[in-house]
Amino acid sequence: MYPEVKLCIDGEWVAGSEGKSEPILDPATAQRVGDVPHASRADLDRALAAAEAGFKVWRETSPHDRYKLMRKAADIVRSRADEIAPIMTAEQGKPLVEAKGETLLAGDIIDWFAEEARRAYGRVIPARAGNVHQLVIKEPVGVVAAFTPWNFPINQAVRKVSAALAAGCSVILKGPEETPGSCMELVRAYVDAGIPKGVINLVFGVPSEISEYLIPHPIVRKISFTGSTVVGKHLAGLAGQHMKRVTMELGGHAPAIVFEDADVDAAAKILSANKFRNAGQVCVAPTRFLVHEKVYDGFVDKFVAATKKLKVGPGSDASSRMGPLANSRRVDAMESFVNDAVQRGANLRTGGKRIGNEGYFFEPTVMTDVPKDAKIMNEEPFGPLAPIAPFASFDEVVEEANRLPYGLAAYAYTRSTQTAAAIGAAVESGMVSINHHGLALPEVPFGGVKDSGYGSEGGAEAIEAYLNTKFVTQANV
Ligand code: NAD
Repeated sequence: MYPEVKLCIDGEWVAGSEGKSEPILDPATAQRVGDVPHASRADLDRALAAAEAGFKVWRETSPHDRYKLMRKAADIVRSRADEIAPIMTAEQGKPLVEAKGETLLAGDIIDWFAEEARRAYGRVIPARAGNVHQLVIKEPVGVVAAFTPWNFPINQAVRKVSAALAAGCSVILKGPEETPGSCMELVRAYVDAGIPKGVINLVFGVPSEISEYLIPHPIVRKISFTGSTVVGKHLAGLAGQHMKRVTMELGGHAPAIVFEDADVDAAAKILSANKFRNAGQVCVAPTRFLVHEKVYDGFVDKFVAATKKLKVGPGSDASSRMGPLANSRRVDAMESFVNDAVQRGANLRTGGKRIGNEGYFFEPTVMTDVPKDAKIMNEEPFGPLAPIAPFASFDEVVEEANRLPYGLAAYAYTRSTQTAAAIGAAVESGMVSINHHGLALPEVPFGGVKDSGYGSEGGAEAIEAYLNTKFVTQANV
């Protein structure tokens, strides 16, 4: 049963004060499942005032008490996973098993950050004079405005909210309008755990109107955004004008490199599973498949065979391995990427078309011999398309891997520890995963370089983004 979506302002669940809303569509049917209320300017002002008051309370709450409340929220999320997963599937389209996995992982992420709350250590710096004490103290930045997208409605939000709360910040979360229900359930778990009112606020609306109001607002001290590079650059510019701290988790175009000494079976199996997870709408999805010419044909055959086996269907059907795309824009984008590549001489090995007339389904697609100037070799496809191209030497593949302005994730397969170390060092990327898919756990850093953004949303680095460093030097008199 899809829930009635509300805003959460100052601990209360409310509709937008001006009564505006937009429909929420099930991507498997394109039918309306509910409506998402839009926050008015007055609602945003209330959320700002609540977050300012909430910050005063929360920063005085000891890290140990924050830890206890957050651990409770984690337990609540886990205990509700069976109810939350179908909500996510109904609004986003992903298979139930992926939706449940995302919800359960949220519990792990909250746990991790709860523990980090107790480890936001400062330090003592030895002084030059005997009567001086020099202290480095970590303090919460203040009110955070967080903007999260529709591809992982819970995961994208829980990383930002939990890091902020662990640090002692309060949050105004602008959740995803296309997939608001499961994101709301995450916030509800926090509220039900007893987080003081005003510490976590949830709004929806017209994204550009909300960001243009919140980012410059003097109450807001920190911005965190996940989404496309073009929007991220715009928001980072706005934050820069107002000297706000920023974390940007943006687009990617991950090279997936298969060297001639790789375990080709394992590479094809792991890479195909991760290419089509969430119908390819993953910022760290393997994207440019670069395969050594000596193992090219064998890899392509295995990858195509694995792709053809994928069962596409509604996420609510337990036998579906890939659901629909999240919205009609993605289907149009896939058609444009495929047509462009084929026109430039790419070989369509499987897929390439939308499926049926109902919902936003698209075939898992593999294209070989895709030229470098094809749009898909340069722009983030954010969908179930795998372009594969051969390479001849280490230097050539490094040049290709680093050719684009993106630098989020990269993958490599090789049996040589020397090649593994060399590619790990040579590729310009925030994350490199070699011989397995090992990204995005709560305890490891998650973030990009170059046009993929800056800041980390995992590991010990993540809480730093929500802390100021203060130096206090005291002479005893
Ligand atoms: P989009 O660029 O319009 O939106 C992406 C996200 O940014 C959405 O959540 C949207 O609400 C938000 N957004 C857009 N304009 C905003 C603004 N002015 N202020 C605040 N938030 C704003 O595109 P889209 O059609 O939703 O998705 C297309 C592209 O976005 C994808 O191809 C992909 O590259 C990127 N994307 C990336 C991620 C990610 O995990 N990094 C997630 C979703 C989308």
